[in-house]
Amino acid sequence: MFADLRVLVVDDEKDFLEMTVKRMQKKGIDCVGVMSGNEAVEKISNENFDVVLLDVKMPGMDGVETLREIKRIKPLVEVIMLTGHASVESGIEGMKLGAFDYLMKPMELDKILETIQDAYKKKSLQEEKIIQAQIKRDLARPC
Ligand SMILES: [Mg+2]
Repeated sequence: MFADLRVLVVDDEKDFLEMTVKRMQKKGIDCVGVMSGNEAVEKISNENFDVVLLDVKMPGMDGVETLREIKRIKPLVEVIMLTGHASVESGIEGMKLGAFDYLMKPMELDKILETIQDAYKKKSLQEEKIIQAQIKRDLARPC
């Protein structure tokens, strides 16, 4: 179910980041981690990712700012905000700006996997619709 899926995890807490990446890799998911919004934007500009797990509270570029930038450069990438109890508002703010959903820390692995799968499904369907639309457009072109 996760055949081609690539996930980026963005979090300034090193231990949390490494643990999350490791847990997903163990499930066979192609997953990498970075520790800041700037690094996330750079990675996403240069590589292909399907789903991003994005911490809302980070020094420098915070989660909401990073989300805006991700959506600007790669609108089809699905973003899941990671919040604490005190930062749920930012998760909701993120959803208004196009994030797929938010998860509250500490997250259960099953819940992460389920949400990633739903996000990936949404992205795949959208890409499929775009391909179909392009085919339809090309077929409708006068020869
Ligand atoms: Mg943080």
